[in-house]
Amino acid sequence: MDKCPKCGTTFEEILENGFVGCEKCYEMPSVKKAVDKMFNNKKHKIN
Ligand SMILES: [Zn+2]
Repeated sequence: MDKCPKCGTTFEEILENGFVGCEKCYEMPSVKKAVDKMFNNKKHKIN
């Protein structure tokens, strides 16, 4: 299970709440994939 090293938010919580705890959360591979899917329609990329 992915967990943010900074704020301790888990991938499961992010899915449940619909938002991340901090910018470090985006570094979780699972979150990256999920965010990529969410923004796929807009062709949005997070660098
Ligand atoms: Zn975080």
